[in-house]
Amino acid sequence: MITIMIFAYKKNAYHKCYIAMCYFLNCIFLPLNFYTCGGIDSGMILYYLVSIFLCVPCLKGKSRIITFVISLIMLEGTMIVSMIFPDAANSITRQQSYNDMIITFIITSCCLFAFSSAIINSYEKERNKRELLLKQLEIISKRDALTGLYNRRVLFEFLENNVAKNKQLYHIAMFDIDNFKLINDTYGHVFGDKVLSEISSEISCVVLHDKDEIAARYGGEEFVYLIKDESASNAYERIEQIRKNIATHHWEEHKNLNITISGGFISCKKYDDIMQMLSEADKLLYVAKGNGKNQIANDFSNKQKTYLQTI
Ligand code: GH3
Ligand code: MG
Ligand code: MG
Repeated sequence: MITIMIFAYKKNAYHKCYIAMCYFLNCIFLPLNFYTCGGIDSGMILYYLVSIFLCVPCLKGKSRIITFVISLIMLEGTMIVSMIFPDAANSITRQQSYNDMIITFIITSCCLFAFSSAIINSYEKERNKRELLLKQLEIISKRDALTGLYNRRVLFEFLENNVAKNKQLYHIAMFDIDNFKLINDTYGHVFGDKVLSEISSEISCVVLHDKDEIAARYGGEEFVYLIKDESASNAYERIEQIRKNIATHHWEEHKNLNITISGGFISCKKYDDIMQMLSEADKLLYVAKGNGKNQIANDFSNKQKTYLQTI
């Protein structure tokens, strides 16, 4: 056995050595011990069971089945031979048989406990690893890698499954960073990425994630926030808050820098389908840009517009 183990270690041929060990145990070692330790009156049958059970975790594929069948025939054969030739195995007294059984039972139970615990532990480890991978995969498939906001796929799924079915409750805000090309050109793309990431955080902290609201990265430096609120003016105030938070954001690297966003805000109940909603929000975003940027244009009536501009 020790020679086989050394060979396995040196040659890196673990599977072949496991097969050799199973055959050695089941075809030579255990049958010999069966005849020398008292045959059917000894506890050898329990060792047989443990040894056969060993084939499962140690071997794989066809070799597992073949080794199992050969071991079964060999071990069963030793019992049949001792039944036909009762003198083949040496006889032991009833007391010796009890002693052997008591010790064998302890040893084999410990072995089975250790094997099955190892198998269950490795199964649980694999299962946890798989769950973690699935969670990571879900994040990768749903989130934008730079900003952590949802991607376009999730945005459109949400629009179809939630917004289109509850148009009365939803509003859409589409944001675009003002003069972002200039920011990139002046301070570099690494800082540009940081701006995208921090602006996304400013948007994300206003989103009520537990109330069926989401924010997504719609394009390069464009974001969409789907707001759920019965009151359009409340929803608009929250969007204004985002704009103000970004306009007053403190940029660590460039203390005097002011970065602003413009946006278009619409209430979904006024439109038939999601493409119309997005297109209207986009149009209003360009109205905000045309009116001087750093503002959120909305689709309120003129009366409401005046009210909101004075608050
Ligand atoms: P406006 O105020 O009219 O929106 O002007 P703008 O300069 O923001 O608009 P424009 O569409 O000309 O520029 C968008 C820029 O956004 C161009 C592109 O290089 C940059 N951009 C898009 N995606 C990324 C990104 O992932 N990282 C960085 N750093 N820049 C990006
Ligand atoms: Mg843009
Ligand atoms: Mg822009």
